[in-house]
Amino acid sequence: MPKTLRLVLGDQISDGRLSSLRDLDSATDTVLFAEVRAETDYVRHHKQKIALVFAGMRGFAERLRAQGVGVRYVGLEDADNTGSLIGEVRRALAEAPFDRVVVTAPGEYRLMDAFEAFAAASNVPFQIREDDRYLCNASDFAAWAHGKSVLRMELFYRVMRVRYGLLLDADGKPEGGAWNFDKENRKAMPKRLTPPPHRFVPPNAITLAAIADVERLFAEHFGSCAGFFYATTPAEAEGVVADFLATILPGFGEYQDAMVRGEPWMWHAVISAAMNLGLIDPLAICRRAEAEYRAGRAPLNAVEGFIRQILGWREFMRGIYWLKMPAFKALNALEANRKLPWFYWSGETAMACIKDAVTTTQAHAYAHHIQRLMVTGNFAMLLGVHPDEINDWYMVVYADAYEWVELPNTHGMATFADGGIIGSKPYAASGAYINRMSDYCGPCRYDVKQRIGPDACPFNALYWDFLARNQALLGRNIRMAMPYKTLERMTPEDRAAIATEAERVKTEFGAVPR
Ligand SMILES: Cc1cc2nc3c(=O)[nH]c(=O)nc-3n(C[C@H](O)[C@H](O)[C@H](O)COP(=O)(O)OP(=O)(O)OC[C@H]3O[C@@H](n4cnc5c(N)ncnc54)[C@H](O)[C@@H]3O)c2cc1C
Ligand code: SF4
Repeated sequence: MPKTLRLVLGDQISDGRLSSLRDLDSATDTVLFAEVRAETDYVRHHKQKIALVFAGMRGFAERLRAQGVGVRYVGLEDADNTGSLIGEVRRALAEAPFDRVVVTAPGEYRLMDAFEAFAAASNVPFQIREDDRYLCNASDFAAWAHGKSVLRMELFYRVMRVRYGLLLDADGKPEGGAWNFDKENRKAMPKRLTPPPHRFVPPNAITLAAIADVERLFAEHFGSCAGFFYATTPAEAEGVVADFLATILPGFGEYQDAMVRGEPWMWHAVISAAMNLGLIDPLAICRRAEAEYRAGRAPLNAVEGFIRQILGWREFMRGIYWLKMPAFKALNALEANRKLPWFYWSGETAMACIKDAVTTTQAHAYAHHIQRLMVTGNFAMLLGVHPDEINDWYMVVYADAYEWVELPNTHGMATFADGGIIGSKPYAASGAYINRMSDYCGPCRYDVKQRIGPDACPFNALYWDFLARNQALLGRNIRMAMPYKTLERMTPEDRAAIATEAERVKTEFGAVPR
């Protein structure tokens, strides 16, 4: 066997499931981990994200060492650290002879580009293996997409259900007679209901050391590590998954779109950070969720909804990313050109909904999907913030943020920067939606019923202004017919007043042209 240097990246913490380690020979090979500034600094990630990745890498390295595997671990502060992954591969090759280098494909286009360039120039063979921890690879997705004028998650998801035999009846038809039970999953939360408690993980010794390093070395980065609760090992992640399946999954779905003050988790799984790090096998968790349904412990709408998020949305987003990059990142269909308001970083705003989403994000590097989509994402889109600023914010602030999943969600779902590649219409909404789906508006300093004036909910004028500004692009969209009819019924004076109010709000919040 050739003597092999095996590079493991920070989001490849998948014991026994990593293609780059599959033919590992512990007698000859070395596994390389490198903490490098190029990765910690290309955006100023939330402190918890860096701590999570470092703890994951350090723990994985320890487990491999315990199995007798040779590990070369480069710490961020090591004197000769070159600061980049390619630099560390070069340094390892200069210090010891290897016949080849093997790596599992990175999750971000920027790194894939760098690795491919290095592979083409390197004297030592550099093999980039497919990342088969995902359920649909790039070429299968491209084959599915081929010849389709529109790509929609729902159709992709049905193909994936059949491919993996998930939630099918004896005739191969969808269990319960429908592919999707989303209609049952959009309820506002009744007052008397309390979300279930979540199981969080107290940091182990390796995680505590990583947190201390991050507090010292990345003090100026966003957020705080004080409440760090993420799993950083497969065993810890298994505890979270088992608890989720037993106690939270049965209620998953019904209140998936609801938001409640001081309740960051609701019935969400809070597993994306662990899954994107590689600790949780996506297919295994889908099969275990299905088993809960088959055993009569969780209802179909909950289990179908959960499986759709992972088998459908997660894989669809990844497929779109690799199909459409690099051009995808430069898209700006609505020609948005404004700056992101300062309170996305500080949380200092009187808008109760934004404040709750941002302060939760600072504390936990987490906000649930509807906060990301309908609060922070929607508001930035209504303000006309440039997609690069929005994309940068989402990459920085969440522990689960990796470009393959973050970018399609921001460009496609939150801001419509992709012009409809992912969604058939923008998720634009006024304060009325937030009022219906949350308890934010009651105590808010703004009045959700008002459209104009210093006390008016800022979402309202911005929403109508957004529709008016983008009428040429969106006005003929059949799914936008209702709001455009309402807009057309407004008098020219009303429309002028909305435009003036929207501009006032944008200026007040610092959302000025870049
Ligand atoms: C603007 C915006 C940015 C986002 N950025 C990210 C990101 O950087 N990383 C990330 O993993 N998710 C991102 N999402 C998707 C989604 O919000 C998170 O996956 C989810 O909130 C994670 O919390 P959870 O584990 O409690 O998820 P749940 O709501 O419990 O869902 C279960 C799992 O399904 C998967 N999932 C659900 N929705 C999506 C989706 N739209 N895309 C991909 N996977 C999905 C996740 O793996 C998640 O853990 C983003 C969504 C929006 C609107
Ligand atoms: S009134 Fe407007 S700003 Fe205040 S919480 Fe409701 S939607 Fe948010």
